[in-house]
Amino acid sequence: MKKIGLILILIIILPIVFLLVNELGKLNENEKILEQIYNDQLQAILFSVNQYSEDVVRTTANRIITETESTSKNVSETRTIENILNDSKKFTAIFVADSINPNKIRFYLRDKNILPNFDSLSKFYKKILFQNDSVINRLYNYQKQGYIKIDPIRLPNSVNESLLIFTGAGSYPKRIYGLIINPQEFITQILSPRLQEVAKNEFIISVINPKTGYQYNSTKDFKKLTVQTQKALWIFPDYNLGISLVGKSIDELVTERAMNNLILIGILFAVLIVAVWFVYRAVKSELELAQAKADFVSNVSHELRTPLALISMFAETLEMDRVKTEEKKKEYYSIISHESNRLGRIVNTILNFSKMEAGKRKFNFAEEDLNEVMIQVYQNYDYHLFNKGFDFEYEPGIDIPKVLMDREAVSEAIVNLIDNAVKYSDETKFIKLVIGQENNFVFVEVQDKGIGISEEDQKKIFEKFYRVSTGLVHSTKGTGLGLSLVKQVMNAHKGKVIVKSKIGEGSSFKLMFPINSQLNIGANNA
Ligand code: ADP
Repeated sequence: MKKIGLILILIIILPIVFLLVNELGKLNENEKILEQIYNDQLQAILFSVNQYSEDVVRTTANRIITETESTSKNVSETRTIENILNDSKKFTAIFVADSINPNKIRFYLRDKNILPNFDSLSKFYKKILFQNDSVINRLYNYQKQGYIKIDPIRLPNSVNESLLIFTGAGSYPKRIYGLIINPQEFITQILSPRLQEVAKNEFIISVINPKTGYQYNSTKDFKKLTVQTQKALWIFPDYNLGISLVGKSIDELVTERAMNNLILIGILFAVLIVAVWFVYRAVKSELELAQAKADFVSNVSHELRTPLALISMFAETLEMDRVKTEEKKKEYYSIISHESNRLGRIVNTILNFSKMEAGKRKFNFAEEDLNEVMIQVYQNYDYHLFNKGFDFEYEPGIDIPKVLMDREAVSEAIVNLIDNAVKYSDETKFIKLVIGQENNFVFVEVQDKGIGISEEDQKKIFEKFYRVSTGLVHSTKGTGLGLSLVKQVMNAHKGKVIVKSKIGEGSSFKLMFPINSQLNIGANNA
């Protein structure tokens, strides 16, 4: 059995343990890859938002360049830019400077109600241009290669204004245009619809100014939020774009998935262990049964041979007229009769067992008084047990009701129990039959003061062919069928067998018959 257990472990459990450990390792790796994919996706979304905001600005930039630099000079710069400001409504102001260091910067405001100090504005932005000459020179270089680049310029201490600059095209190579934007207005009016469209219900896209703590979220329900991934907003360098998943964060999702996978693997493992345990149990009981059957054959042969040898020996002695006294003759006859009875019983047990196994045993139930049935068994055995040195006692039941039973089958069961009590008694030779009533049952109990049965064996002795494999039982022969027959007989009576035993102190087997049971009188299959 140990070998089989080891083989099972080797061929089933070990590979699976390896597989599981491998899977666990991979799981971690997979989760990392998954997280990477999620993050890449988020980055892609942020990229598209950035792209969109730049497109918005570029469309206006292109219009400013083409319209103010057009060759037909019928329309003034002022009119053109004011039109653009009016049409787009995205920009607070637009300025035009004719070089990196112009005399004057021409300023155009969207809001006609504001009367600004154009001189101080011009001065302020001249300084900004001057300070950012390296940026502007870079833009000139791009322009020479035919590309108009738009660059953001940081304005000192300004929250409500952001500046984007770009160069003119061919006709005014040194010209610089400035677009002044209110970032928060731009975010809420221009970007907002786009953010909501991109985010749908799956993400929350936020625009955050880390310095001021400003945060705009595409979904209003999430007021305060720590975002998953941040990226600078190209057109407003002070602002970041952030994105997060609605509900759970990626970290949470990934750990949740990992947890789920772990639990699944755990369950799988547990199921496997249970399955292996069942296979082990099945194999074990099959092997035990095979062993028991082999033992059974040798036990039965022995059981049959002993009485046969005795019978033929005493019969021969009698036949040859070698026995002188009548008394001796009588003793020999009684031995022959007793041994043939024993032989008969063994054969009966085996026959009944095989009938029962095939489901062919018929029971004849009739209303019987258990006292009456048992007194008969007692009387049949009293003399025999007395001869064997047994103290055989009988305690009848008082006023017990009649119950339905197959008299013959029950007697046979009790004989089996008495036989066992004899076989498995050591020094204290004591057997007692007790009949009585308990709740809705009448019972007959066979008590002995024999070797007793361990708790573990008590669970198995009713299995067919099972014999306890230690101690006295080794030297005592038996078929291992007696108790299994008793059990089957009691099942047919819808009753039960209760065994109580302690090693070294003795055993008691109690057969319980239900009062008022619904058994079919006449014939009933086991
Ligand atoms: P067997 O032919 O071996 O007696 P049984 O089915 O009658 O087969 O009993 C099964 C086993 O139960 C026996 O081998 C014995 O070990 C144990 N057993 C049965 N009755 C007793 C008892 N009265 N005292 C101790 N052990 C018993």
